[in-house]
Formats: sequence, C-alpha cells, structure tokens
Amino acid sequence: MIDLNTALLLGFLLQFAMGMVMVLAYTLRAAYPGFRSWTFALICWVFAGGSFYARSVLGEMPSVVLTNGLYFTSILLFYSGLARFYGFDRDRSRQRQNFFVALSMYAVVLCFLFVKNDLHVRVLLNSLTMGVLMVRTGLDALRGSRGRCLPIQRLLSWCFFVLAALLVCRGLMVWFMSPEADILRQGSGLLPLLVGNILSIVVMVFCLITLTSCRLEEELLQAQERLREQAQHDGLTGLFNRRHFSELAAQAARQAKRYKQPLSVILFDMDGFKNINDTFGHAIGDDVLRTAAATCRKVLRQADVAARWGGEEFAVLLPQTGLAGALETAERLRECLEGQRAGQAGELAATASFGVASLTGDEDVEGLLLRADAYLYEAKRDGRNRVKAQTPGRG
Ligand code: GH3
Ligand code: MG
Ligand code: MG
Repeated sequence: MIDLNTALLLGFLLQFAMGMVMVLAYTLRAAYPGFRSWTFALICWVFAGGSFYARSVLGEMPSVVLTNGLYFTSILLFYSGLARFYGFDRDRSRQRQNFFVALSMYAVVLCFLFVKNDLHVRVLLNSLTMGVLMVRTGLDALRGSRGRCLPIQRLLSWCFFVLAALLVCRGLMVWFMSPEADILRQGSGLLPLLVGNILSIVVMVFCLITLTSCRLEEELLQAQERLREQAQHDGLTGLFNRRHFSELAAQAARQAKRYKQPLSVILFDMDGFKNINDTFGHAIGDDVLRTAAATCRKVLRQADVAARWGGEEFAVLLPQTGLAGALETAERLRECLEGQRAGQAGELAATASFGVASLTGDEDVEGLLLRADAYLYEAKRDGRNRVKAQTPGRG
C-alpha cells in the first residue's frame, strides 16, 4: 500500500500538472469566454488542496483560512466560467446567489476557527456547502446544451457530482472521527477520496478542453454550411445562382439521357427592366426581382429547380417534364408575373418573356440552354410578355 504522504504529494503534483495544462491551453490556443475562469478555478483548487495538506508547514490558522477561501473561490469560478461559456445567467443573479452562500459559509467556518476552534464542524460545513455548490454547478453545466457536445457536458456534470460526493464523504468522515485523531494520518480513509479527487480533476480538465474544441468544430461546420449556402445561392432573390444551376442542369441532363426521360428548361427575362429601374428606382427594381423569385417558388413543383441566371433573367429546370408540360408551366409563370403589382401604389405591372426548350437525344445541356435563349429572344422580338418554344420540325 502506498504511503499516504507520498500519495498526497503525488496527488498534488498531478493536479498541479493539470492546472498547467489548463494554463497552456488558455495561453496557447484561442479560448472562448469562460476558459480563463476555469483555469483560475483549477489553480485555486490545486492550491487549496496544497494548503490543506501543508498545514503542518503553514500553521493551522493560515492553512484553514487559505484552504477554505481557495475552495470557495474555485467553485465560484467554475460556475462563472460555465455561465460565460454558455451565455446563461447574463444578469449574474445565480452567480450572486452562489457568492452569497459561499461568503456567508466562509464567515461561519472562520467563526469555528477564531471564536470556537472546532475542526469537525468546520470541515463538515465546508464540505456540505461545497457539495451543494458543486451539485448546482454540475446541473447548470447542462444548460445551453449543444447536440454534438452533449456527451462531454454530461461527463463534466458527473465530475462535479463525484467531487460533491467525495466532499460530503470527507465532511462526514471527519465529523465521525474522534477529536484526537489526525485527519492526515495513514488509514484515515483519505486515500480513496484523494484518488477519486485526482481522477475527477483529470477527467474535468479533459472535458473543459474538449468542450472548447467541440464548440470550435461546431462553429467551423456552421461557417462551412453558410459558405456553401452563399456559394450556391443568389443574395438578392435567394434562388440558386447560375453556377449551381449549371451543375444541377448538367447532372439532370446526364440522368435524363441515361434513363431516357424528358427534361426541359425555361429561360425568362423581365421586359423593359431598364425602364423600370429608371422610372421607379433600383430598390423597386430589386423588389420586382424578388417578387419574380417568389412567383417561381409558388408556381413550380418541388422537383423543379429555379435560379437567377443573370441580372433580370431567370432559369428553370424541369426534370421529367416534356415540352407540353414545360410550356404549360411557363405560361402559368407568365400569367402570374403579369398579375403581380409592384411600386409604392401598386402602379407597376412587370412582365417577362419566356423561351422553352426540351432536351433532344443529340444535344448537351449547353445546347439546350442556348436553344431556350434563342426562343426567349424570339419572344422579345415578337412583342414581349409571351412564351416561345421549338415548333415541330425545328429541333
Ligand atoms: P428587354 O425587355 O429587352 O429585356 O429590356 P430590358 O430593359 O429588360 O433589358 P436591358 O438588358 O436593357 O436592361 C436590363 C436592366 O436590368 C439593366 C440593369 O441595370 C438591370 N439590372 C440587372 N441586375 C439588376 C439588379 O440586381 N437589380 C436591379 N434593380 N436592376 C438590375
Ligand atoms: Mg430584360
Ligand atoms: Mg436581360
């Protein structure tokens, strides 16, 4: 069996090393709010243990004052770190409650040093108060829970619960000890508590550092998702942009040819849009474009793909749709757009011209879009606000 004093020294050194890990993690890595509090909390915890075990060197009174003060400070800092990390308790009301409990119990503990020196009551009061604060910290460690980090949060909570249990055990152990017994003597049952304490602190440091990297990973994934969204969508209308539409269209064309299914595209361009901008202003022009996008969403099926092709030009991909179906859809879009009103008094009726084409066996998606574009300009030439498509014998 390992000698208790050696175990105490090793335990102190191990916890000190954990404190250093936190300091290094804090200084060398980007940390989130709260990490500094956790680092100081752990340093306080390590030194509280040190001053408790070194009471023969420090003297009883300084040791008691220091140990209790450091333990209370430590738990307050752990809680404050969690509150900052997760952004709960913004008005600090819960932290103030913790502070009030810790400060008043610290005062009571010191009374049992300076007024009536009673180790049993002191240790019991300190342990129970710390236990309660630990349990509250463990419960609140689950606040603001995040999907992927939840297992780590749970593990962290358990560390606080285990520490609370160990503290209560220590308090009860000392309470039932005979007044002459030395709390630090071999065989007082301190060793299992010490081992539990060290293990909890090691796991806790792992959790605190992992929570930080977990959150970083999560933020990176969100940023990646946002970038993907931005890369695929048009900022003004929210529709897909030309590049993403081209990718989807090429894929749909390959699939349509492979399975011998029909595929159609509609290109449409707002009529006299320069004039709309010049007369009503760019903001109203933008509104008209947004309305056109909303019309697409309303009229089209889920499987259809709409995109902003360029300035005031839109493209629609209609998988598994032949020319007749595409013409029908284009006509519905045209009517719907014609019926929309814009401008402050609803005085603006914007229209669009449409070109429709269906994929033939010997063309690729670029050819299909070129043909739709040609029909669109035919619609413009023929007087605008109309739908044009391949006529029999032309493609
Ligand atoms: P047509 O009937 O022949 O299509 O005539 P048009 O005036 O619509 O065509 P033109 O190509 O002459 O003008 C297109 C206008 O669209 C010019 C450009 O300033 C405007 N435009 C392009 N993108 C935007 C945008 O994002 N917002 C607004 N408000 N206007 C835009
Ligand atoms: Mg136009
Ligand atoms: Mg145009």
